Amino acid sequence: MKVTTTISETREQIREWKKEGLTIGLVPTMGYLHEGHASLIEKCRQENDRVVVSVFVNPTQFGPNEDLEDYPRDFGRDSALCESIGADLIFHPEPEEMYDHACAFVNIHTLSENLCGKTRPIHFKGVCTVVAKLFNIVQPDNAYFGQKDAQQLAIIKKMVKDLNFDIRIVGCPIVREADGLAKSSRNTYLNEEERKAALCLHRAVLAGQEAISAGCESAQVLRAMEQVIEAEPLAKIDYISIVDALTMQPVEKVDRDVLTAMAVYIGKTRLIDNFSYEVGI
Ligand code: AMP
Repeated sequence: MKVTTTISETREQIREWKKEGLTIGLVPTMGYLHEGHASLIEKCRQENDRVVVSVFVNPTQFGPNEDLEDYPRDFGRDSALCESIGADLIFHPEPEEMYDHACAFVNIHTLSENLCGKTRPIHFKGVCTVVAKLFNIVQPDNAYFGQKDAQQLAIIKKMVKDLNFDIRIVGCPIVREADGLAKSSRNTYLNEEERKAALCLHRAVLAGQEAISAGCESAQVLRAMEQVIEAEPLAKIDYISIVDALTMQPVEKVDRDVLTAMAVYIGKTRLIDNFSYEVGI
């Protein structure tokens, strides 16, 4: 497995593989890899001749008071995990390599207005910009994203369509701990008491799924979920919302494919979870 830190050496390797007619899969990550990331890399390994993993804590997707400095990093462990799954290349640039006095950014409206976009107003501009840059550098045939970040996945699919990237976007299911907590690099911020409290997100997902399956309207589904979170003293709701799965706009009735998503603070740590519901017409 090769590790590159510059755009030029990455391009050189990609050019060689393309010359040989090999297919390339890309898994963009911010590192501190866990089984959720591993599931994306494994799927990428199954479907491509060459597997590229990017490990880059992207500064442009963090707001001024967010956790950019504290975000956990362990490149030694990350590269060992990637190697064990059979990745061929890790692209691990410094911020200066990716943003050399950059003036061009990729913005996406409408889909980024609600859910995480509301409390993190510059987040998806940063995400779209870095993903577009990675797509241009790696030129993958396939790129893998987790449904854990469901709004991000919907936004990337729309960006690829609107900007005509010739790349297939593959969504992969949420990987959870045995007790239901969605795996996240940010789970390491939780102390023992907060770790237990964090289970309320999964309990709220289950309550929401039950209410939707019973035919409830959005307001009732949301109320059922809010009650679960409100019963947990360490938890504070950032948002819980039901949106159209494609446009990310709120819906009153569950009469189409929807995404139900939430962000909840457990102490100072902001965690997200979600589930999709397909009407299946
Ligand atoms: P991150 O390193 O948090 O930016 O995540 C990199 C990719 O891994 C994104 O596409 C995430 O959606 C995905 N991912 C993170 N956690 C999980 C999880 N628990 N299950 C599935 N995919 C995940």
